[in-house]
Amino acid sequence: MSINKTVAIIGAGPVGLAAAAHVLERGLRPIVLEAGPEAAHAIRQWQHVQLFSPWAFNIDKAAQRLLAAEGWNSPDPDVYPTGRELIALYLAPLATKTPLRDIIRTSSRVTAISRTGFDKAKSKGRAEAPFEIRYRNGKGAEVLHADAVIDVSGTWFSPSPAGANGLSALGEAEHAERIAYAMPDVRGAQRSRYAGKTVAVLGAGHSAVGTLIDLTELAREAPGTKAIWLLRGPDPAKAFGGGANDKLAARGELGSAFAALVRAGTIQVETGFGVSAISDADGCLRIAAGPSSNDRHVIADQLIAATGFRPDLSFLGELRLRLDPAIEAPVALAPLIDPNEHSCGTVRPHGARELAHDEPGFYLAGMKSYGRAPTFLMVTGYEQVRSIAAEIAGDSAAAARVELDLPETGVCTRGGLESAAVSSGCCGGPAPAEVDACCTDDAAAKIAGQSGCGCPSR
Ligand SMILES: Cc1cc2nc3c(=O)[nH]c(=O)nc-3n(C[C@H](O)[C@H](O)[C@H](O)COP(=O)(O)OP(=O)(O)OC[C@H]3O[C@@H](n4cnc5c(N)ncnc54)[C@H](O)[C@@H]3O)c2cc1C
Repeated sequence: MSINKTVAIIGAGPVGLAAAAHVLERGLRPIVLEAGPEAAHAIRQWQHVQLFSPWAFNIDKAAQRLLAAEGWNSPDPDVYPTGRELIALYLAPLATKTPLRDIIRTSSRVTAISRTGFDKAKSKGRAEAPFEIRYRNGKGAEVLHADAVIDVSGTWFSPSPAGANGLSALGEAEHAERIAYAMPDVRGAQRSRYAGKTVAVLGAGHSAVGTLIDLTELAREAPGTKAIWLLRGPDPAKAFGGGANDKLAARGELGSAFAALVRAGTIQVETGFGVSAISDADGCLRIAAGPSSNDRHVIADQLIAATGFRPDLSFLGELRLRLDPAIEAPVALAPLIDPNEHSCGTVRPHGARELAHDEPGFYLAGMKSYGRAPTFLMVTGYEQVRSIAAEIAGDSAAAARVELDLPETGVCTRGGLESAAVSSGCCGGPAPAEVDACCTDDAAAKIAGQSGCGCPSR
């Protein structure tokens, strides 16, 4: 087993801290560079949100071992924490009360990575050259050399814009003071901004659904508050999730509660609404869909764009990455999570092999490894970094082993066209444990010698 290797870990979110714990346990030397002033800087921005996964799925095993040595009491595995509780009861103690406290450098933003003495085009001897990581802290520019790099810097700080074509909508930048992204705290810290206002929420993922539910609660407390749901697709039911079939009950219930509000007409729903332009209308926002200024539009005081996230690849330009051109996830992982393809929402556990690039020793992991795809779970990230730490330490057998059983979503998407909570479970139900497959249909196809799953679109 290799020792004395330095492993740079970019980001002190839950997966970055887990990576540090696994690397430490392997006898290697982790150094965590975190842009924010404290660990879990991204989760601090959404700490008002209740997680849809209970504690049982939120704690990494190596992190737990570090905490246990300090006399930590683990939370009730069946309870669903808020982001705030996730930090207070798990991530903050992990970052400040265990040996990780000595290896985390906060207020340290990574700005560029290369290999010492090698530009991107130079090959001979490249794999042996250490990584050179540039970062900025309060003192100025710093350099760290490392034998391996795990980029777990998440995607929270690079939300996708409102524009349906992936670009900012015309006028989006000019009206930035009335537009928020992802999941602002509409009932708490930012209540005064939204109470009594007409608020358009754009998106169809968990963040949009959660915000719309919060706005309907706010409307009860602050009359005059009105929620308009803008979604690009034609079918609101796609956002309702797997309901009772979802093995993460809170996630299923969120979708079911939302479905009830939509069916009751509590929320104004605008389907097929691809935002193209945002302009001023008597002090309000005029949010238009379509190519011409006469097109369909809604008027709102505020817009919340919950259109997903994308990875910040700006500091990785000198590295030889192998990313899927659409999803911007590692090529071997992308087909498992691509919403255009068959997906059970339930992603097979994966590790160092699927996350490798043409740059030995460099890995994307955690939320960032999913690129633009949604449905990432912390527990998936914990398994990723367990496997990566084993691989870096030279323990290929442990790296290849799968040590995770993921909860099923109960949602099956086929060819991106259909998303349904199937009463029998996803695509015929979960696959048998002994088959490396995402659902029963997939398992049947593989047993029959086919490469892909048995869904009609494949
Ligand atoms: C609202 C919301 C709710 C969610 N709920 C759940 C849930 O219930 N269950 C679940 O399993 N998952 C959930 N997720 C998904 C996912 O598990 C979380 O986003 C999780 O925080 C991802 O962990 P991470 O460590 O990969 O990234 P992050 O938590 O985003 O951490 C990344 C860290 O990197 C730092 N960073 C960024 N750029 C740089 C840089 N250039 N240099 C140095 N540091 C940098 C950031 O400051 C941050 O601290 C949720 C996500 C969101 C947004």
